[in-house]
Amino acid sequence: MFTFARLTGQLWKYRVWQVATVLAVVMSVAFFSLWRGNPAGLREGMTTALYFPICLFWFVWWATAIRCPACGQSPVWYQMRHGKADDATARILTGTTCPACGFDPRDSEAAVSGPAV
Ligand SMILES: [Zn+2]
Repeated sequence: MFTFARLTGQLWKYRVWQVATVLAVVMSVAFFSLWRGNPAGLREGMTTALYFPICLFWFVWWATAIRCPACGQSPVWYQMRHGKADDATARILTGTTCPACGFDPRDSEAAVSGPAV
């Protein structure tokens, strides 16, 4: 997905997802530590209030932000809904083409830059 995002000018969306992933992991650790005696002494209300919106944002952003410029589909959402669930993450992370329409940004990059001289 990194390559697809970079070649289609959507790398910033991928970077937002990376930051959201770190925040979601940190908030998950904080949230579940509340049930383990709250060793860090976190504010329960604030931790809970931040945990759910951050995790929801993380998922929705990941599922919808990066779009195929050819067909408008989200390759991530498409992969979540099609194929086997156990390798969906691998397909999402390694995919370089749109799984819905087959658009390959590497082809359009070559078309834009023209033939090598
Ligand atoms: Zn497409």
